[in-house]
Amino acid sequence: MHFAQRLQNVETSAIREIFKLLGTPGIISFAGGFPDAALFDVEGINAASQQALSQHAGQALQYGPTEGYMPLREQIASTLRAQGAAVQAQQLIVTTGSQQALDLLGKTMVSPGDKVLVEGPTFLATIQCFRLYGADVVSVPIDQDGVQVDVLEQQIKEHRPKLIYLIPTFGNPSGAMLTLERRKRILELAAQYKVLVVEDNPYGELYFDAPPPPTLLTLSEQVPGSRDYLAYCGSFSKVVSPGLRLGWMVAPDALLANAAMCKQFSDANSSMLTQVTASEYLASGRLPAALQRVQKVYAERARVMMRHLDECLGDALQYTAPQGGMFIWASLTGAGGGSRDAAAFVKRGVEKGVAAVPGAPFFATHVDHSTFRMSYASVPEDKIIEGVKRLAQAL
Ligand code: PMP
Repeated sequence: MHFAQRLQNVETSAIREIFKLLGTPGIISFAGGFPDAALFDVEGINAASQQALSQHAGQALQYGPTEGYMPLREQIASTLRAQGAAVQAQQLIVTTGSQQALDLLGKTMVSPGDKVLVEGPTFLATIQCFRLYGADVVSVPIDQDGVQVDVLEQQIKEHRPKLIYLIPTFGNPSGAMLTLERRKRILELAAQYKVLVVEDNPYGELYFDAPPPPTLLTLSEQVPGSRDYLAYCGSFSKVVSPGLRLGWMVAPDALLANAAMCKQFSDANSSMLTQVTASEYLASGRLPAALQRVQKVYAERARVMMRHLDECLGDALQYTAPQGGMFIWASLTGAGGGSRDAAAFVKRGVEKGVAAVPGAPFFATHVDHSTFRMSYASVPEDKIIEGVKRLAQAL
């Protein structure tokens, strides 16, 4: 079979190899990126879906507008306005997961050979998605405070990128949080160099002790001209349920119109059944309490994991201390003459009964082979403690 040439730009992810091993009985997995299913507000979502079918069956079971179910768009816009961003319902479209928003950005913005800047490391599916459209994806280094803005500016000058993709708040896989100063600087760069910045924010609500700085979307009000070069992707996946497959994108009018046109050829509209359900769920007022439960559980799990990493692995490991989100990003330091090869370490971990994800695939360029990702989100505390002990054995 002669497949399209664009497939040559992507390879199946190395991460899948790890996931194949997860069927091993008794394995404790820090490898997944799933939210904890035990925390889904099943009762609330069930009530909302019944409401959707008893009150709005004609719409919920029908095709719908490509841009999304209007009451839901209004609710999303109103939530964003409550965060200080001037967004009207017409300035966003509902997407089938935020993953579809990324795909639509690839479709509408990327021509073969275009440069795209991403954080090193970043969400693997984004790298793959933009590569599928022929992008030459380049990593910009990050630290605990997010992307290094001075290097970012140099890279903008050098590469003249088509777009810059960032996860400013509790990155996947980095767990990092971009500081307020850097957020403002990025918006200035967007306006100055007239380059589209994509803010992907599925984790921003999952903060532990204090809310993160305002989003780029909110801050764009303060930086003249920046909103014209900003797209914002949000998602219900980590705060309500990924099974809804619902996300959204706020973008400048022309970009939004083109994205909606491409969406028409892709899925015509996101599921009306889940959109009406999500809308009823938001209207029920149950989300804030459900979200608080998730925040509390993830915060405690993160603390337990960090405490035991410190105790059991000590200076063999460096990691970002997340202030929210689902991930700890770690690096083998080689202290005491140990190996810094994280792929080999992860493999030994699986032999000892614990799984993590090697970090290399999360880099588009400038790969750091000493890194790996762990998620605490779906693992109960006793399992976290046992899993970290096994990691120490693997070391
Ligand atoms: N962006 C990031 C950074 C993610 O981690 C994920 C999912 N893990 C997505 C987008 C896609 O999420 P969804 O399509 O479920 O909204």
